[in-house]
Amino acid sequence: MAVYDPRSLKAEEFINHEEILDTIRYAKANKNNVALIDSLLEKARPRRSADGKSVHCQGLTHREASVLLACDIPEKLEEMYKLANEIKLAFYGNRIVMFAPLYLSNYCINGCVYCPYHSKNKHIARKKLTQQEVRDEVIALQDMGHKRLAIEAGEDPVNNPIEYILDCIHTIYSVHHKNGDIRRVNVNIAATTVENYRKLKEAGIGTYILFQETYNKKGYLELHPTGPKHDYDYHTEAMDRAMEGGIDDVGLGVLFGLEGYDYEFAGLLMHAEHLEAVHGVGPHTISVPRVKHADDIDPDVFDNSLSDEMFKRIIACIRIAVPYTGMIISTRESEEVRNKVLDLGISQISGASRTSVGGYAEEERPHDSEQFDVSDQRTLDEVVAWLMELDHIPSFCTACYRAGRTGDRFMSLCKNGQILNCCHPNALMTLAEYLVDYASPATQRLGYAMIARELSKIPNERVQRIATENIEKIKASNQRDFRF
Ligand code: SAM
Repeated sequence: MAVYDPRSLKAEEFINHEEILDTIRYAKANKNNVALIDSLLEKARPRRSADGKSVHCQGLTHREASVLLACDIPEKLEEMYKLANEIKLAFYGNRIVMFAPLYLSNYCINGCVYCPYHSKNKHIARKKLTQQEVRDEVIALQDMGHKRLAIEAGEDPVNNPIEYILDCIHTIYSVHHKNGDIRRVNVNIAATTVENYRKLKEAGIGTYILFQETYNKKGYLELHPTGPKHDYDYHTEAMDRAMEGGIDDVGLGVLFGLEGYDYEFAGLLMHAEHLEAVHGVGPHTISVPRVKHADDIDPDVFDNSLSDEMFKRIIACIRIAVPYTGMIISTRESEEVRNKVLDLGISQISGASRTSVGGYAEEERPHDSEQFDVSDQRTLDEVVAWLMELDHIPSFCTACYRAGRTGDRFMSLCKNGQILNCCHPNALMTLAEYLVDYASPATQRLGYAMIARELSKIPNERVQRIATENIEKIKASNQRDFRF
């Protein structure tokens, strides 16, 4: 039997089944242990350094966080939600980073039973963007105001080889329509080799994102009956290969609803602990997708669907356990659900997403090649205005990785409390770009008022002055892309 070892490079040792089962047992046994729960909440609290200059959080282990997740004492839950929000504000401020997915190809040779791209689906329209179509999509995305994309593709070595993905990345970075610019391309493609990860790194990608779907090996093998993705170990060990290939920023995720949430939660945190133990840096982001209706996929056939209440709790507990990791929520979720979780630790959301190949260049939202139904169908302008009404700063910033602040260098910026002098002004300057170039008059009014309020919060006077001057330049000219 495999023994749990977070430093091992073998999937069954760093995501260890027995350790997860033990963790779930321990969490259930302690779910009403108020003394333990209080001590965990205390341990996880943000603390200022003696000189008051930096804030630090210890986070929690998968075992500790699983106890919080199992607890359903109403007052303790309220404390958890409050703490999650406090941690979010300490490290990320009230900024929410905006992005959009870009679907390149839905050709796929896998048999994932929850995904309409599965190879047996013969009636879905198969499509792969040409480089001209990539350009058209990017222009449509730039015209909305997007600066950051996550590219998505099915796994098909003949139709979507790595060379095709690399060509698309080059095309995306080369398009500059009006004042538009895609400044960060994150990549969500199937597990691949160290050599291919190295090529992605050289192409200038931001985060490499790969959802585990489920950490439960038995369930995984049944949910991925055919194709290369069937190989659980190869899939689970992908992030180690990505990091070996030089990619510092990796994004984890589970497709909630496929298997038991408590198992996934422990597995996800064990994966984060493993990356930290082996590579010295945890995941850059964690995504929390839930399985949704799509073409021939009925989410009700998976009997592990997650209530909105438990979804909230999972998000808050992830925030508390891994305080420096960004957390992403997509348009799979409705406005109502997104509203509920914004204060629990989410730091990135997508807006105006189209999950069909070629969807952005079309006037009407096309349904024929969608990967899943989009619940939040608002325009980017509506999402931006909504965030500001809730006092979140929509940020189009992509500065960190372009300034080489990836991996542990990004984490140390976070830990040193430099966010208010760096990310905050960057968020305001990119928001100003959005307002000038793309926003409706009503959103502009909200935005300029927010910028005026938020500029005064920048502690360093020099930074405050430069940010103010740059925003004036953005308003008065076509100068763009200022950053700290
Ligand atoms: N093909 C790549 C892979 O296998 O990892 C990644 C791209 S896939 C387009 C992106 C993600 O969409 C998958 O990892 C999966 O978690 C999610 N997904 C698939 N079917 C879904 C559904 N019905 N509802 C919600 N999300 C889904």
